[in-house]
Amino acid sequence: MTEHHYLPVREIRWFGAGIYELRLDRRGLAFTPGDCFALFAGDQQASRPYSVASGVADDFLAFIIRRMPGGEVSDYLAGLKPGDQVKVSPPFGWFRPGNAAPGMPFVFVATGTGISPFMCHFRSRPEQPPDALLYGVREAVDAVELDWLQRQCPVKLAVSRERDNGYHHGRVTDLLPGLDLRAESQYFLCGLDAMIDEVTVWLERQGVELSRIHRECFFNADFD
Ligand SMILES: Cc1cc2nc3c(=O)[nH]c(=O)nc-3n(C[C@H](O)[C@H](O)[C@H](O)COP(=O)(O)OP(=O)(O)OC[C@H]3O[C@@H](n4cnc5c(N)ncnc54)[C@H](O)[C@@H]3O)c2cc1C
Repeated sequence: MTEHHYLPVREIRWFGAGIYELRLDRRGLAFTPGDCFALFAGDQQASRPYSVASGVADDFLAFIIRRMPGGEVSDYLAGLKPGDQVKVSPPFGWFRPGNAAPGMPFVFVATGTGISPFMCHFRSRPEQPPDALLYGVREAVDAVELDWLQRQCPVKLAVSRERDNGYHHGRVTDLLPGLDLRAESQYFLCGLDAMIDEVTVWLERQGVELSRIHRECFFNADFD
């Protein structure tokens, strides 16, 4: 039988209007960067996978979550208070950001909360930054910990629903032509399925084999 854990909420921090970080006490739970945990809506059966955004040495578990209005789990979690207990599955996953052979270059591409496994990588292995992070968000305020991210590696931000904020206005895929495509680079993509498909097609057209493209799809939805 799967052994679940009950972890107390430490804090909830809001970024943009719809994105928050949920921090739970970790209680020694081990995980590998790129892993997810299923978080439950109370003691109900409903659970959803969320990619862990904190580092392997942190004493808390952090998740970057978009609140879907009316969403069974993301809406429930958004309403929790410090001290409330969250039912959590054991960790699971196969997406391993940055897990290229030692010394091999790699690149991260994220939309929205797809930044989570990359945050985990930066917090867990700061000495192994990617060549670049391409990050697509709807509004600039949705870009989680942008100043901190910019200290980890070169970041290119695309903002789709706002203009004149100093960032590229448009989709993250617009930033692809600016990438330095090194022969041995590995590509790690996380977020909306439409972004992942478009980036994969573009990379393959540039001659990147599929075996060098690693993908974690969070949502099936249009992206803009
Ligand atoms: C491997 C994996 C890792 C994930 N990690 C994260 C993470 O770190 N952070 C995070 O926020 N989410 C993550 N997700 C998505 C998450 O599991 C839920 O699907 C999401 O939170 C919505 O669940 P809900 O119960 O709130 O909404 P539901 O009750 O499932 O859905 C409510 C409504 O919203 C729609 N909907 C759901 N998501 C979207 C969307 N993005 N755009 C448009 N419509 C949508 C549904 O179709 C439905 O109509 C991950 C998903 C996978 C598969």
